[in-house]
This record gives sequence, C-alpha cells and structure tokens, in this order.
Amino acid sequence: MIIDLISDTVTRPSKGMMEAMMHAKVGDDVFKSDPSVNALQEKMAAMFGMEDALFFPSGSMVNQTAIKLHTNPGEQLICDKWAHVYNFEGGGAAANSGVSSMLIDGNRGMFTVEQLNGLVNDPNNIHLATTTLLCIENTTNKGGGACWDFEELKKIKEFCTDNNLQYHLDGARLFNALVAKNESPKQYGELFDTISICLSKGLGAPVGSVLLGTKAHITKALRIRKLFGGAMRQAGFLAAAAIYALDTNVERLAEDHAKATKIGEVLAGCSYVKKVEPIETNIIIFNLNDDINEVDFIHQLKEREILISSMGSGKLRMVTHLDFTDEMLKKLIFELKEI
Ligand SMILES: *Cc1c(COP(=O)(O)O)cnc(C)c1O
Repeated sequence: MIIDLISDTVTRPSKGMMEAMMHAKVGDDVFKSDPSVNALQEKMAAMFGMEDALFFPSGSMVNQTAIKLHTNPGEQLICDKWAHVYNFEGGGAAANSGVSSMLIDGNRGMFTVEQLNGLVNDPNNIHLATTTLLCIENTTNKGGGACWDFEELKKIKEFCTDNNLQYHLDGARLFNALVAKNESPKQYGELFDTISICLSKGLGAPVGSVLLGTKAHITKALRIRKLFGGAMRQAGFLAAAAIYALDTNVERLAEDHAKATKIGEVLAGCSYVKKVEPIETNIIIFNLNDDINEVDFIHQLKEREILISSMGSGKLRMVTHLDFTDEMLKKLIFELKEI
C-alpha cells in the first residue's frame, strides 16, 4: 500500500468514472461536434451562470489562454508573488503573451485591496507598461490551500472596474474553496471576467480543465487554444470523466479537508515538526526543526511507502485526495508518530 500525498493530481479514474468514459458519445471537437464535450461546457457555464465555457487539456493552458485573450504584448498583469500563473507555468505570461507581471507581497498567496494602491500604471504615461489584467488564485496552491474572503474579492472587483482591469480567477482548486466555505459557483461567475477550473485535481478526472467567460471571450479563446496546440478531437472520453467528477466528487472534498486537518493536528504534536501552516482545505504545509535534513526525512517516509514533496525553503507538502483512504490515514498517523 503506497500512500501518495505528492498531489491531488495522482488519483486514478474510479470504476464508475471508467464506465462513464467507456460509454461516452464522442465526435470531433475541433468541428464542435463532440456531444460529451459540448455537454460538459454547457453544464459548467450553467453551473457558474456564465455565458460560455471551453474544454482544455490542462489548467496551465487555460490560464495562459486567459492571459492572452485579456492582454496585448507589452502590457502588464498584477498577481501575488506566489501565483501559479507567475511561478509554475514556465514563464508563459512573458513567452506566450509578451506581458510582464507586477507582483504583490501577499500573505499565503492572498492580498488586500489596499495593497493594490499605486500598482496600476498610468495608461497615459508612455514610459510605463499598461496594466490590463489582475489574476487571483483560489484556493492558493503555494499558500497551502488557503481560501480568500469573498468580501475582499468583491472589493478587488470594484477596484478592477474603477481601474479598467480585467479580473481572472485561477480556480484550479475552486471547488475545494466552495465546499470549505459553503459558497456557490454562481457567486464567482458573477464576479470574474474569466475563470479557470481543473477537473484533474481534487475532482479526480484524469485530464482536463475548463475556461469560463463571455461568448466573446470563448470565441477568442478558441483561436488561442488552436494556436497553443490544445484543440483535441474525440475529447468526449475525457469530458465524460469530467462530468462524472462534477456529479460525484464535489461534496466529498469535505472528507479530504477533514483528513488534512487531522494530519495537521498529528504533525503539530510531533517533536521534529517546527511549524504547521493553517489548514483550510486539502493541502498541508509544514516545516521541520532546523537540525533535521529535509531530504533525509522525505527518504525515511519513502522507505515506509509514504510519498510527500518539498516546496523548497524548508517547506514540506502533503495533499489529500479521493484515493487517500481511511486505512491510509491510519497508517500515515502511525508512521508519523513512529518516525
Ligand atoms: C494545478 C494548478 C494549475 C494548472 O495546472 P496543470 O497541471 O497545468 O493542469 C493552475 N493553477 C493552480 C493554482 C494549480 O494548482
């Protein structure tokens, strides 16, 4: 029994999901004639109360498409210094869209509307990059699965409107936030210009992400997705897994959150642990005491068939997910106390 807590992307399709995939009606999605892809896009647009949606192979491609459709080369976006769009998409904003990033020194990947003061460049000053886009992330990945305060997001929306900025949500793990804070997809659909959602994280689909926006956004996104090489053919097999995930695996995210909280409590009681970050969803970030070598620690766990990852600068990460069972939780707790 290998306990893999590297990420919530390590899950395998369940039997029910495999069956949904096997029975999917498919067609050529480049000609918009894959009924399962169309059904997924309609389902998600309706769920968020947004005009349209588009299926993609990855979350990074969705974010990069959103950045490209909202900006022109030479412009600037604003995001937190820990944002996925800045740190973990291969420098894509610069390479794909020719935009620079103004970083905010936030807290666990989140910031306040006050911190935006003075960051929007004067569009009439020809020396400065024109600021056109603001990106936020919910839940935050590097921030340890933290959830934004919705009231702050509303204030930031007002700021965007006042300053002529587009507002993009990297919602790779938005469903974790919705479940943890008892919020609805429509609240988010009303607030943001575009939203990206991953089906391949906590929701447990093998592949796939979705971009949500207006009809005009999605028309632009279709061209960009083609340009990025992300237009797929019988993608309905994957869309069927995504539909199954939305129907089956949303409410159960609460179980992942409960398990993560439990692990955090156990870690906090371990003598070799220096600090555990607050746990709001399914990500646990913790630091070891200064005299413990982090590589050795990861190796020791690996010998006990437990896989976890390092985020650098002394931070270790575990992520709970739907293939992490009660039995595995028991074994993990036993080993953490034993080590
Ligand atoms: C995982 C993730 C993405 C997208 O990742 P892909 O691996 O490209 O699907 C985007 N943003 C955040 C915050 C993520 O955690």
